Amino acid sequence: MSNDSVQREARPGTVAADPEIEILAAGSPNNRSGFSLVPRPDLNSTDVDWANEHLADAPIIVSTLTSQSRTQVWQAANLTWYRRAGQIHVRNRDGAYRFEVLLAPGANRDDYDFLRRTIEEARSGRFERHGWRPYLDDAGERAWRFKYSRHYLDADETHFLYEARDDSPKVIPCDDDRCRELVHDAAGDTHVADDTETEDYELSVERFVSSEREAPDYSVCLVLKRNDVDMPAAAATSLANDLQWMSESCRRVNLQHAA
Ligand SMILES: [Zn+2]
Repeated sequence: MSNDSVQREARPGTVAADPEIEILAAGSPNNRSGFSLVPRPDLNSTDVDWANEHLADAPIIVSTLTSQSRTQVWQAANLTWYRRAGQIHVRNRDGAYRFEVLLAPGANRDDYDFLRRTIEEARSGRFERHGWRPYLDDAGERAWRFKYSRHYLDADETHFLYEARDDSPKVIPCDDDRCRELVHDAAGDTHVADDTETEDYELSVERFVSSEREAPDYSVCLVLKRNDVDMPAAAATSLANDLQWMSESCRRVNLQHAA
């Protein structure tokens, strides 16, 4: 049975029925491996010193993986299921390294968390000898790539194709450099350009975003934490000042262009 016929027959709501998931046939070209299958050598001081110098403070950017149109799910020879929804590159930009996370369509919060944990491990020294492959990038600079799949389901989940559901929400890269977040829930979320909070209220400069649409402009969002907020004069003054600040902040970000 081909993958496509499996996916057509899958029950609605299951992983197998998701059009953004590609179930790779067993024995298809093996250009993928599960991270949990990779031997993990002990950390040594060279690993740690190099990572401290080059990766500890390296910034992270997130964008869309264009070479893979869907999130891939595949089964290893030991019948364990794996899932690959993205990859990470470390590249030198203007003299400093940065992490470039690339997310495939269909990537969810669990996929993203796996990649973020991998970055934190790299910062602590688990880097080149621990699963990151070196290469030369377009500019001839030394770079590294992490492409492993994450462990997804255990071998006994043999009815996976038809029955398994996945509650982890799908995520999309944030492409607005005014926003503080790197990814958003695809079903609906907000870009956040500024925010503050007291025991009485939360105040932010926000803009709706989902995989379907985005609000054109930022607006000021005020959330009072109780129905009747009874504030001393000083707290009321603070709210008035914060509102003034946020309205200026909102005007400023709306004048900037998104990345
Ligand atoms: Zn954003």
